[in-house]
Amino acid sequence: MSEKFQAVVIGGGPGGYVCAIRLAQLGLKTACIESRGSLGGTCLNIGCIPSKSLLNLSEEFHKVKNLSNKGIEVSEVKLNLPKMMKSKEKAVTVLTKGVEFLLKKNKVTYFRGTGSFKSKREILIKDNTNKETTIQTEKVIIATGSVPVSLPNIKFDEKLIVSSTGALNLEKVPKKMVVVGGGYIGLEMGSVWSRLGSEVHVVEFLDHITPGMDKEISKEFMKILKKQGINFHLQHKVEKVTKNNTGVIVSTSNKEGNKKNFECEVVLISVGRKPNTDGLNLEKIGVELDDKKRIKTNESFMTNLDDIYAIGDVIAGPMLAHKAEDEGIAVAENIAGQSGHVNYDTIPGVIYTTPEVASIGKTEEQLIEKNIKYKIGKFSFMANSRAKAIDDTEGFVKILADERTDKVLGAHLIGPHAGELIAEIGVAMEFGASSEDIARTCHAHPTFSEAVKEAALSVDKRAIHS
Ligand code: FAD
Ligand code: NAD
Repeated sequence: MSEKFQAVVIGGGPGGYVCAIRLAQLGLKTACIESRGSLGGTCLNIGCIPSKSLLNLSEEFHKVKNLSNKGIEVSEVKLNLPKMMKSKEKAVTVLTKGVEFLLKKNKVTYFRGTGSFKSKREILIKDNTNKETTIQTEKVIIATGSVPVSLPNIKFDEKLIVSSTGALNLEKVPKKMVVVGGGYIGLEMGSVWSRLGSEVHVVEFLDHITPGMDKEISKEFMKILKKQGINFHLQHKVEKVTKNNTGVIVSTSNKEGNKKNFECEVVLISVGRKPNTDGLNLEKIGVELDDKKRIKTNESFMTNLDDIYAIGDVIAGPMLAHKAEDEGIAVAENIAGQSGHVNYDTIPGVIYTTPEVASIGKTEEQLIEKNIKYKIGKFSFMANSRAKAIDDTEGFVKILADERTDKVLGAHLIGPHAGELIAEIGVAMEFGASSEDIARTCHAHPTFSEAVKEAALSVDKRAIHS
């Protein structure tokens, strides 16, 4: 007899494992199936965590090399890349093992293997020795995430032509690196390798980087990255990538049709990710996909079939770990008869470069498009005393508030700790706060968060320090 569960989660990433824990907390007999051999999904194994580890380590290397400008003499700073990679791997192992412990603590049964539908209520699990186990379930939550996409006729070898996975594991610093795509991955990984000594060239199809971001921030971001030594080639299309004896040639053309070849040691292709539904046998049970091959769900995360749900990167919406986690909690609560819900208007996005870039709610362009009248408050870190004290003054805070009601509609930050500062605005927006509410809140001095308060004051043109 096959084992019976009330809920089975396929995929052990931030969507899947969080969902499994919440289901178990709510009293359901739950299983979580993960094929990778380690929990935490893309995020912990080959995404958020290793990339943030390398961003931090490369920034420390870069900072130490430049300390003499601040009166701290350091004699010889050398890079030990294998040791740096080990430090990154340690962070990954500690966290993935931690998730395994959490599943155990919450009495979630963890199956190592690949799950697929035998029928709506029967899941087949194949482990890496091809041993098959079938389990039965009342509910299934699909949380199989996403995988990188490449360009037509270009295959990742993860050595010379790499996706983010290869870019997190290079064995030596490439002399020259071409990054195709000026989005989240391209700019984070481009920053890492640039700080470690690579000459980085970003080739972007559009006339600006970070599509979807508030344009003013995006422009400032590119200006700062250029100053750091990253080269940008906008409105360039990659036509082909060919390997030669020394590395790779990336052939591009611009919008006038002018052709340009980039010779480099490594090319990172970071032009987006696609939902991962391969091998699940969705056709067999009739789960519907949308035009972008994402699993179609309703507001309760249910697919077109009763009792089959999907969350995270495999459905519509931003491909972000915290979005997947919140959907995991919401779907578990819905299954348990509660009212789980995700507010898609307040999902922050953060790029962990130096400086960090953070965004929440509507951009100025979206407000114009929707014909919503707004006021802008802005405050530069140049006038923030904490930023001045530690000489970290690049960037600004921008708050957008409704012209009539003063309700905060969006906020866009570039600057020190922007990824942490955005949380205050998230809470404010969840409570439907006005910019005046933020402006009247006492912020500690001297902190970077005072720049948020001053930007809120500036919405009504009453900033004190500018
Ligand atoms: P995933 O994390 O992709 O997990 C899905 C899991 O399902 C995988 O482990 C996979 O092995 C497993 N699986 C797939 N099919 C099966 C099957 N048939 N049976 C069993 N298991 C299966 N987001 C952020 O919010 N912040 C960041 O800083 C950030 N940095 C990133 C950096 C990089 C380089 C990358 C690539 C992504 C980054 N992301 C970041 C995005 C983030 O990783 C994803 O949005 C998030 O992991 C999605 O979670 P998920 O649970 O939906 O899917
Ligand atoms: P992305 O969507 O962020 O950026 C892709 C970029 O490639 C865009 O600027 C796009 O215009 C460009 N592009 C597309 N086709 C192109 C072509 N043929 N030639 C040149 N440029 C082209 O995608 P990504 O950087 O691959 O990241 C995938 C997803 O992973 C992100 O959207 C994000 O959801 C997630 N992620 C998040 C973080 C974070 O939260 N800090 C970090 C990394 C990844």
